[in-house]
Amino acid sequence: MRYVSTRGEAPELPFDEVLLTGLARDGGLYVPAAFPPLDPVSLRGLSYPDLAVRVMTPFLGEAIAPKDFARLVEEAYAGFDDPDVAPLRPLDGKLWLMELFHGPTLAFKDYALQVLGRLFDHVLQARKSRITVLGATSGDTGSAAIEACRDRDAIDVFILHPKGRISEVQRRQMTTVASANVHNLAIDGTFDDCQDLVKGMFNDAGFRDALRLSSVNSINWARILAQTVYYFAAALKLDAGQPLAFAVPTGNFGNVYAGYVAKRMGLPVRKLVIGTNRNDILFRFFTEGAMTVRNVEPSLSPAMDIQISSNFERFLFDLYERDGEKLCAAMEAFRRSGRLDVEKKLLDQALETFSAHRFDDVATLATIAAVHRENGLLIDPHTAIAVAAARAVRDGDDAPVVALASAHPAKFPDAVERATGTRPALPKRLADLFEREERMVTLPNDLAEVKAHVRAHARLQGAA
Ligand SMILES: *Cc1c(COP(=O)(O)O)cnc(C)c1O
Repeated sequence: MRYVSTRGEAPELPFDEVLLTGLARDGGLYVPAAFPPLDPVSLRGLSYPDLAVRVMTPFLGEAIAPKDFARLVEEAYAGFDDPDVAPLRPLDGKLWLMELFHGPTLAFKDYALQVLGRLFDHVLQARKSRITVLGATSGDTGSAAIEACRDRDAIDVFILHPKGRISEVQRRQMTTVASANVHNLAIDGTFDDCQDLVKGMFNDAGFRDALRLSSVNSINWARILAQTVYYFAAALKLDAGQPLAFAVPTGNFGNVYAGYVAKRMGLPVRKLVIGTNRNDILFRFFTEGAMTVRNVEPSLSPAMDIQISSNFERFLFDLYERDGEKLCAAMEAFRRSGRLDVEKKLLDQALETFSAHRFDDVATLATIAAVHRENGLLIDPHTAIAVAAARAVRDGDDAPVVALASAHPAKFPDAVERATGTRPALPKRLADLFEREERMVTLPNDLAEVKAHVRAHARLQGAA
């Protein structure tokens, strides 16, 4: 399997190079040269890890020996706290929740990152190489990245968070990981300051090369790939006799794009229903046929407080019939002007696969309350947006819908308590989170000092 860039200029690469590269050199994102067909009927009865191996293997090419890959996937999901890994829970006769919060950090990002960390380590060890993973977090991504990279021989991980500005649960999920290769840096500043520091380190080419800086951000193709698996898992388990619709709470368009990949591989999908919060660039795209940038505003579903959905470019590439030159021109114009229009014909084509719905905080709280009242179940604010979107499409359509539950309610206890009067408890595996010892260093918002710290603590010796 070869991978091509959405901007048409960067060299084609095999899977292992795409894994380590992240963003393509022409500024585009890598996608497979073709979507390999997979007959869902041939997948019946497989366990989740076996299914994951079957779905992902056609994308790997020669990059990883099949035996190694199977072991790595088995290990990735062994620590999940539900035997089904991604269990389905009925809400009513036609609507199911797919619980994607049974991994170590209680959000769906674990489903991909637990595989990704092991893939990185495997490929790097084979090359006798190492990397330094660097990232800034406003809460959720950092803990998933840390859990994915902990104890991996070929990886050191440094995560910057704004000191005192993330919730105690979020902080403790990162700082109580007792691994020598995990470094939590609490920065005296805001999340934007943390991001600027990370950018500053990546922009210093000498520093970047010496430490082999890398990131595990959501544009990495391997993350998308690992997420296609649970779309197949849901369809196989429900065996509904008709195509399913999936309702997906969306920020960077990564998770819902994984559903699109499953569809392109042959999974019968009735519709991919996008749920956004007030940061609604995707909703406006699918209603107006234009992407227009606005400021990010905080909401009760912070993991979706994003205005430019980076993975959307992957879908646009197909909509433009894989014309990288045309897409490149459109994306550059978008960066300059903050606006990208598509023709009516293309919008109609996109609407055959997707629909989009937007919900504000009031609707989010009302949905949490309704599910609690009707089903006796606590759901998190991101999941609530998926449920609301699922219910919105059902008004005109009786097809079965699976709403993706992207986080455990205990990750967002304040919103859940506000809606229901009940404070969700942490699951057993994290019950002692508040007793565990924390490890972090506090640093000023100063690039030179942060760099010096990273250089002193990364295991890449002789770094510049
Ligand atoms: C990251 C995240 C999302 C958004 O996922 P995308 O792949 O960026 O669309 C939704 N919910 C939760 C809980 C998340 O952590």
